[in-house]
Amino acid sequence: MILREADIRPPDILAEYLRLNAEDGRRLLEQAGTLQHRSCPGCNANNPQPAFKKNEYSLVHCGDCKSLYVEWTPSDEVFEAFYQDSPSANYWADTFFPSVSEARRKAIFQPRASQVNAILASYDMRLKVAIDVGAGAGLFLDEFNKLIPGKDLRVVEPSAILSRTNRNLGRQVFEGYASAAAMDPAWRASGDLVTCFEVIEHVADVDAFISSLRDLCRPGGIIIISGLCGTGFDIRVLGKYSNPVSPPHHITFLSRAGVERLIGRLDLELLSFLTPGVLDVDIVRNVLLREPEAVTDDFVRDLVLNGSEETRAAFQDFLSKNCLSSHMWIIARRPR
Ligand SMILES: [Zn+2]
Repeated sequence: MILREADIRPPDILAEYLRLNAEDGRRLLEQAGTLQHRSCPGCNANNPQPAFKKNEYSLVHCGDCKSLYVEWTPSDEVFEAFYQDSPSANYWADTFFPSVSEARRKAIFQPRASQVNAILASYDMRLKVAIDVGAGAGLFLDEFNKLIPGKDLRVVEPSAILSRTNRNLGRQVFEGYASAAAMDPAWRASGDLVTCFEVIEHVADVDAFISSLRDLCRPGGIIIISGLCGTGFDIRVLGKYSNPVSPPHHITFLSRAGVERLIGRLDLELLSFLTPGVLDVDIVRNVLLREPEAVTDDFVRDLVLNGSEETRAAFQDFLSKNCLSSHMWIIARRPR
Protein backbone atom coordinates (compact mmCIF):
# COMPACT_ATOMS: atom_id res chain seq x y z
CA MET A 1 0.00 0.00 0.00
CA ILE A 2 1.32 3.44 -0.91
CA LEU A 3 1.37 5.82 2.03
CA ARG A 4 -0.44 9.12 1.45
CA GLU A 5 -0.03 12.30 3.43
CA ALA A 6 -3.77 12.26 4.27
CA ASP A 7 -3.34 8.87 6.00
CA ILE A 8 -1.22 10.45 8.72
CA ARG A 9 -2.38 14.09 8.43
CA PRO A 10 -6.13 14.28 7.72
CA PRO A 11 -6.65 17.56 5.81
CA ASP A 12 -9.28 19.09 8.17
CA ILE A 13 -7.28 18.30 11.30
CA LEU A 14 -4.06 19.48 9.71
CA ALA A 15 -5.70 22.77 8.64
CA GLU A 16 -6.98 23.46 12.16
CA TYR A 17 -3.60 22.59 13.65
CA LEU A 18 -1.81 24.94 11.26
CA ARG A 19 -4.31 27.71 12.04
CA LEU A 20 -3.70 27.35 15.79
CA ASN A 21 0.01 27.15 15.16
CA ALA A 22 0.05 30.45 13.26
CA GLU A 23 -1.99 32.14 16.02
CA ASP A 24 0.29 30.76 18.71
CA GLY A 25 3.31 31.87 16.74
CA ARG A 26 2.17 35.48 16.72
CA ARG A 27 1.22 35.40 20.39
CA LEU A 28 4.54 33.85 21.32
CA LEU A 29 6.42 36.63 19.54
CA GLU A 30 4.45 39.23 21.49
CA GLN A 31 5.10 37.46 24.80
CA ALA A 32 8.71 36.60 24.09
CA GLY A 33 10.02 40.15 24.37
CA THR A 34 13.69 40.02 23.45
CA LEU A 35 14.49 37.35 20.89
CA GLN A 36 17.71 35.38 20.87
CA HIS A 37 19.96 35.38 17.86
CA ARG A 38 21.54 32.17 16.65
CA SER A 39 24.14 31.33 14.08
CA CYS A 40 23.56 28.40 11.76
CA PRO A 41 22.46 25.37 13.83
CA GLY A 42 24.25 23.14 11.31
CA CYS A 43 27.68 24.55 10.47
CA ASN A 44 27.70 27.33 13.11
CA ALA A 45 28.52 30.02 10.50
CA ASN A 46 26.90 33.41 10.79
CA ASN A 47 26.10 33.93 7.13
CA PRO A 48 22.30 34.25 6.98
CA GLN A 49 20.64 34.79 3.59
CA PRO A 50 17.02 35.96 3.88
CA ALA A 51 14.61 33.26 2.69
CA PHE A 52 10.99 34.15 3.60
CA LYS A 53 8.67 34.93 6.49
CA LYS A 54 6.27 32.40 7.96
CA ASN A 55 3.85 33.08 10.82
CA GLU A 56 5.83 36.33 11.25
CA TYR A 57 9.12 34.52 11.88
CA SER A 58 12.01 35.28 9.53
CA LEU A 59 13.62 32.22 8.02
CA VAL A 60 17.08 32.33 6.53
CA HIS A 61 19.25 29.97 4.52
CA CYS A 62 22.77 29.52 5.77
CA GLY A 63 25.05 30.92 3.09
CA ASP A 64 27.59 28.21 3.86
CA CYS A 65 25.76 24.88 4.41
CA LYS A 66 22.24 25.79 3.10
CA SER A 67 20.42 24.80 6.29
CA LEU A 68 17.09 26.64 6.68
CA TYR A 69 16.35 28.10 10.10
CA VAL A 70 14.59 30.79 12.13
CA GLU A 71 17.36 33.22 12.97
CA TRP A 72 15.76 35.00 15.95
CA THR A 73 13.94 32.73 18.39
CA PRO A 74 12.16 33.06 21.74
CA SER A 75 14.15 31.87 24.76
CA ASP A 76 14.17 28.26 26.01
CA GLU A 77 11.96 29.28 28.96
CA VAL A 78 9.33 30.76 26.63
CA PHE A 79 9.43 27.63 24.47
CA GLU A 80 9.14 25.36 27.49
CA ALA A 81 5.98 27.11 28.68
CA PHE A 82 4.65 27.06 25.11
CA TYR A 83 5.02 23.27 24.83
CA GLN A 84 3.54 22.70 28.26
CA ASP A 85 0.37 24.63 27.54
CA SER A 86 -0.68 26.32 24.30
CA PRO A 87 -3.66 25.83 21.97
CA SER A 88 -1.59 24.26 19.17
CA ALA A 89 0.47 21.99 21.46
CA ASN A 90 -2.70 20.90 23.27
CA TYR A 91 -4.54 20.30 19.98
CA TRP A 92 -1.68 18.10 18.83
CA ALA A 93 -1.78 16.04 22.04
CA ASP A 94 -5.60 15.93 22.52
CA THR A 95 -6.91 15.69 18.97
CA PHE A 96 -4.34 15.39 16.19
CA PHE A 97 -2.14 12.59 17.49
CA PRO A 98 -4.96 10.43 18.95
CA SER A 99 -6.85 10.62 15.64
CA VAL A 100 -3.92 9.22 13.67
CA SER A 101 -2.03 7.18 16.25
CA GLU A 102 -3.15 3.75 15.00
CA ALA A 103 -2.63 4.76 11.35
CA ARG A 104 0.81 6.01 12.32
CA ARG A 105 1.59 2.81 14.18
CA LYS A 106 1.37 0.87 10.91
CA ALA A 107 2.66 3.54 8.56
CA ILE A 108 5.45 5.01 10.68
CA PHE A 109 6.26 3.23 13.92
CA GLN A 110 6.42 -0.37 12.63
CA PRO A 111 8.73 0.49 9.71
CA ARG A 112 10.75 2.72 12.05
CA ALA A 113 11.29 -0.15 14.50
CA SER A 114 12.34 -2.46 11.65
CA GLN A 115 14.74 0.13 10.30
CA VAL A 116 16.35 0.72 13.71
CA ASN A 117 16.71 -3.02 14.18
CA ALA A 118 18.38 -3.33 10.77
CA ILE A 119 20.77 -0.47 11.59
CA LEU A 120 21.79 -2.12 14.87
CA ALA A 121 22.42 -5.39 13.04
CA SER A 122 24.50 -3.65 10.37
CA TYR A 123 26.80 -2.21 13.05
CA ASP A 124 26.83 -5.46 15.01
CA MET A 125 25.40 -3.74 18.07
CA ARG A 126 24.27 -6.07 20.85
CA LEU A 127 21.66 -4.06 22.65
CA LYS A 128 20.92 -4.06 26.35
CA VAL A 129 19.65 -0.54 27.04
CA ALA A 130 17.84 1.76 24.60
CA ILE A 131 16.73 5.28 25.47
CA ASP A 132 14.06 7.00 23.39
CA VAL A 133 14.14 10.78 23.86
CA GLY A 134 10.78 12.47 23.29
CA ALA A 135 9.14 9.07 23.26
CA GLY A 136 5.58 10.43 23.35
CA ALA A 137 3.12 7.64 24.08
CA GLY A 138 5.86 5.08 23.45
CA LEU A 139 4.58 3.66 20.15
CA PHE A 140 8.07 3.26 18.70
CA LEU A 141 9.22 1.34 21.77
CA ASP A 142 6.05 -0.82 21.62
CA GLU A 143 6.93 -1.88 18.10
CA PHE A 144 10.64 -2.17 18.82
CA ASN A 145 9.88 -4.42 21.80
CA LYS A 146 7.83 -6.71 19.55
CA LEU A 147 10.84 -7.15 17.28
CA ILE A 148 13.47 -7.70 19.99
CA PRO A 149 11.70 -8.45 23.28
CA GLY A 150 13.42 -8.49 26.64
CA LYS A 151 15.54 -5.35 26.28
CA ASP A 152 15.68 -2.51 28.79
CA LEU A 153 13.73 0.22 26.98
CA ARG A 154 13.84 3.61 28.71
CA VAL A 155 12.05 6.87 28.07
CA VAL A 156 12.96 10.54 28.36
CA GLU A 157 9.76 12.56 28.03
CA PRO A 158 8.83 16.01 29.37
CA SER A 159 5.05 15.52 29.31
CA ALA A 160 3.62 14.30 32.62
CA ILE A 161 0.70 12.52 30.92
CA LEU A 162 2.87 10.71 28.40
CA SER A 163 5.43 9.85 31.08
CA ARG A 164 2.67 8.12 33.03
CA THR A 165 1.58 6.19 29.93
CA ASN A 166 5.11 4.80 29.63
CA ARG A 167 5.46 4.04 33.34
CA ASN A 168 2.21 2.09 33.17
CA LEU A 169 3.86 -0.05 30.50
CA GLY A 170 6.64 -0.85 32.97
CA ARG A 171 9.29 1.38 31.41
CA GLN A 172 11.84 3.38 33.31
CA VAL A 173 11.02 7.04 32.64
CA PHE A 174 12.95 10.26 33.10
CA GLU A 175 10.24 12.92 33.19
CA GLY A 176 11.93 15.99 31.77
CA TYR A 177 14.22 17.13 28.98
CA ALA A 178 17.24 15.31 27.59
CA SER A 179 19.55 18.00 28.98
CA ALA A 180 18.44 17.18 32.55
CA ALA A 181 18.53 13.42 31.97
CA ALA A 182 22.09 13.68 30.64
CA MET A 183 23.15 15.29 33.96
CA ASP A 184 21.63 12.47 36.03
CA PRO A 185 24.29 9.88 36.99
CA ALA A 186 21.72 7.08 36.65
CA TRP A 187 21.08 8.04 33.04
CA ARG A 188 24.34 9.54 31.82
CA ALA A 189 26.25 7.31 29.36
CA SER A 190 23.76 4.49 29.96
CA GLY A 191 22.29 3.87 26.49
CA ASP A 192 23.73 1.41 23.98
CA LEU A 193 21.24 3.09 21.67
CA VAL A 194 19.76 6.59 21.95
CA THR A 195 16.93 7.45 19.58
CA CYS A 196 15.16 10.75 19.04
CA PHE A 197 12.51 10.98 16.33
CA GLU A 198 11.02 14.18 14.92
CA VAL A 199 12.29 16.46 17.67
CA ILE A 200 15.31 18.24 16.18
CA GLU A 201 13.20 20.59 14.03
CA HIS A 202 11.65 21.95 17.25
CA VAL A 203 14.99 22.75 18.84
CA ALA A 204 16.64 26.19 19.04
CA ASP A 205 19.93 25.26 20.75
CA VAL A 206 20.82 22.30 18.57
CA ASP A 207 24.39 21.97 19.90
CA ALA A 208 23.15 21.58 23.47
CA PHE A 209 20.45 19.17 22.36
CA ILE A 210 22.77 16.86 20.38
CA SER A 211 25.33 17.04 23.21
CA SER A 212 22.64 15.75 25.57
CA LEU A 213 21.89 12.82 23.28
CA ARG A 214 25.63 12.11 23.08
CA ASP A 215 25.97 12.22 26.87
CA LEU A 216 23.07 9.79 27.31
CA CYS A 217 24.83 7.35 25.00
CA ARG A 218 27.68 5.16 26.26
CA PRO A 219 31.03 5.38 24.46
CA GLY A 220 30.76 3.13 21.42
CA GLY A 221 26.96 3.37 21.43
CA ILE A 222 24.77 4.49 18.55
CA ILE A 223 22.53 7.55 18.23
CA ILE A 224 19.69 7.67 15.70
CA ILE A 225 17.93 10.96 15.00
CA SER A 226 15.18 11.63 12.48
CA GLY A 227 13.75 14.95 11.42
CA LEU A 228 13.12 17.44 8.65
CA CYS A 229 15.87 18.16 6.14
CA GLY A 230 15.89 21.74 4.84
CA THR A 231 17.37 20.77 1.49
CA GLY A 232 14.82 17.99 0.91
CA PHE A 233 12.45 18.16 -2.05
CA ASP A 234 9.14 19.37 -0.61
CA ILE A 235 10.66 21.95 1.72
CA ARG A 236 13.01 23.23 -0.98
CA VAL A 237 10.33 23.42 -3.67
CA LEU A 238 7.53 24.82 -1.49
CA GLY A 239 9.47 27.28 0.68
CA LYS A 240 6.96 29.37 2.61
CA TYR A 241 4.12 27.18 1.30
CA SER A 242 5.58 24.14 3.05
CA ASN A 243 3.28 23.10 5.92
CA PRO A 244 6.08 21.59 8.03
CA VAL A 245 7.92 24.90 7.88
CA SER A 246 5.74 26.09 10.72
CA PRO A 247 7.31 28.27 13.40
CA PRO A 248 7.09 28.34 16.36
CA HIS A 249 6.86 24.51 16.40
CA HIS A 250 9.37 23.89 13.63
CA ILE A 251 12.34 26.26 13.46
CA THR A 252 15.37 24.16 12.41
CA PHE A 253 15.77 22.41 9.04
CA LEU A 254 19.32 21.17 8.67
CA SER A 255 20.94 20.40 5.35
CA ARG A 256 23.08 17.32 4.87
CA ALA A 257 26.21 19.49 4.93
CA GLY A 258 24.93 21.12 8.13
CA VAL A 259 24.40 17.71 9.72
CA GLU A 260 27.95 16.66 8.80
CA ARG A 261 29.41 19.79 10.40
CA LEU A 262 27.21 19.56 13.49
CA ILE A 263 27.97 15.91 14.20
CA GLY A 264 31.71 16.43 13.69
CA ARG A 265 31.76 19.54 15.91
CA LEU A 266 30.20 17.61 18.81
CA ASP A 267 32.76 14.79 18.76
CA LEU A 268 30.46 12.24 17.22
CA GLU A 269 31.18 10.03 14.26
CA LEU A 270 28.60 10.29 11.46
CA LEU A 271 27.97 6.71 10.35
CA SER A 272 25.24 7.41 7.86
CA PHE A 273 22.90 10.09 6.52
CA LEU A 274 19.71 8.78 4.91
CA THR A 275 16.47 10.27 3.66
CA PRO A 276 14.00 7.38 3.63
CA GLY A 277 11.04 9.76 3.13
CA VAL A 278 8.13 8.59 0.99
CA LEU A 279 5.81 11.60 1.03
CA ASP A 280 7.64 14.52 -0.64
CA VAL A 281 5.85 14.29 -3.98
CA ASP A 282 2.43 13.78 -2.38
CA ILE A 283 3.02 16.74 -0.07
CA VAL A 284 3.92 19.06 -2.96
CA ARG A 285 0.96 17.77 -4.96
CA ASN A 286 -1.48 18.40 -2.10
CA VAL A 287 -0.28 21.96 -1.67
CA LEU A 288 -0.45 22.60 -5.44
CA LEU A 289 -4.01 21.28 -5.68
CA ARG A 290 -5.07 23.91 -3.13
CA GLU A 291 -2.64 26.70 -3.99
CA PRO A 292 -1.66 26.56 -7.68
CA GLU A 293 0.77 29.47 -7.28
CA ALA A 294 2.87 27.65 -4.66
CA VAL A 295 5.32 26.31 -7.27
CA THR A 296 6.32 28.39 -10.25
CA ASP A 297 8.69 25.92 -11.90
CA ASP A 298 6.78 24.39 -14.83
CA PHE A 299 8.72 21.15 -14.87
CA VAL A 300 8.06 20.42 -11.21
CA ARG A 301 4.40 21.49 -11.45
CA ASP A 302 3.79 19.28 -14.44
CA LEU A 303 5.59 16.28 -12.96
CA VAL A 304 3.80 16.48 -9.64
CA LEU A 305 0.31 17.33 -10.95
CA ASN A 306 0.16 15.48 -14.26
CA GLY A 307 2.75 12.72 -13.97
CA SER A 308 1.31 9.19 -13.82
CA GLU A 309 1.20 7.43 -10.49
CA GLU A 310 4.12 5.25 -11.62
CA THR A 311 6.19 8.28 -12.62
CA ARG A 312 5.53 10.03 -9.31
CA ALA A 313 6.37 6.88 -7.35
CA ALA A 314 9.60 6.46 -9.31
CA PHE A 315 10.53 10.09 -8.70
CA GLN A 316 9.85 9.71 -4.98
CA ASP A 317 12.03 6.63 -4.95
CA PHE A 318 14.80 8.60 -6.67
CA LEU A 319 14.55 11.36 -4.03
CA SER A 320 14.74 8.88 -1.16
CA LYS A 321 17.67 6.96 -2.56
CA ASN A 322 19.70 10.08 -3.38
CA CYS A 323 19.31 11.79 0.02
CA LEU A 324 16.97 14.39 -1.50
CA SER A 325 13.83 13.77 0.58
CA SER A 326 12.96 16.16 3.40
CA HIS A 327 12.64 13.26 5.88
CA MET A 328 16.16 12.54 7.13
CA TRP A 329 17.82 10.02 9.42
CA ILE A 330 21.13 10.74 11.09
CA ILE A 331 23.04 7.73 12.41
CA ALA A 332 26.02 8.58 14.59
CA ARG A 333 28.34 6.83 17.03
CA ARG A 334 29.81 8.13 20.24
CA PRO A 335 33.54 7.31 19.94
CA ARG A 336 34.99 4.91 22.50
ZN1 LIG B 1 25.33 26.49 7.95
